[in-house]
Amino acid sequence: MSLKGKTAIVTGSNSGIGLGVARELARAGASVVLNSFTDNDEDHKLAEDMAREFGVDVRYIKADMSKGEECRALIEQAGACDILVNNAGIQHVAPIDEFPTEKWDAIIAINMSSTFHCTAAALPMMRKAGWGRVVNIASAHGLTASPFKSAYVTAKHGVVGMTKVVALETAKEPITANAICPGYVKTPLVEAQIPDTAKEYNMTEEEAIEQVILARQPSKEFATTEQIGGTAVFLCSDAAEQITGTTISVDGGWTAL
Ligand code: NAD
Repeated sequence: MSLKGKTAIVTGSNSGIGLGVARELARAGASVVLNSFTDNDEDHKLAEDMAREFGVDVRYIKADMSKGEECRALIEQAGACDILVNNAGIQHVAPIDEFPTEKWDAIIAINMSSTFHCTAAALPMMRKAGWGRVVNIASAHGLTASPFKSAYVTAKHGVVGMTKVVALETAKEPITANAICPGYVKTPLVEAQIPDTAKEYNMTEEEAIEQVILARQPSKEFATTEQIGGTAVFLCSDAAEQITGTTISVDGGWTAL
């Protein structure tokens, strides 16, 4: 499966799922633009190492996905966008009546509105190129809910809805838009939740993982960032040309329950 000649922009890709997706796209031959809101030596080294490992062009562009104008500037600065992976995301857990407004605003902006801004900026480039793939990293929480994750669940349901709209608006063009809905993937975002969960339930971290974090994931295993990346590569392949407006769950059976 070759993505040679394609340029992929992956938002929020200096760690976790975004990095895993970027690596699999690079492995398939795509030129990659890495992004996050930081801009340090490690970010640029990540790009250099990936370019060397896969023999493709990899650049790092700083842009804060909480700001609409920076989302659009990222796409413009990249200069080409055949594949857009809207991945940047953050999480905050609190009861809805105690949910800090600034956390709500940040989650809606980074997890949902950035998908709108980046997609709006990328579609004209895809049309010009005559080919395009939008891959949105939603979540099992885009299809189901959990208490205390109001902003996250709202944003991810929004991303699933937006994916369908983009698919309908591009249905007659050689462009597709789909969402991947991961269950739990062991990334820094999830690793940060483990000690607090263990403390809250008075359990060891191993017990907290199995009995609380993976409670709704029948496989009882985390998905890997490579598996999410592989799913993204599939959605960019010719085999997926007629797959648009849908969600692919990579959740060890969570949403089958
Ligand atoms: P992570 O914390 O490892 O990565 C988040 C990425 O987003 C980082 O690269 C970070 O730099 C970037 N980011 C955060 N704020 C940003 C901003 N303002 N501007 C630009 N970039 C920003 O987390 P992850 O688990 O890899 O999450 C990636 C995506 O996958 C998120 O959208 C998340 O909701 C989704 N997801 C994760 C899981 C999971 O279990 N890990 C499950 C379902 C969905």
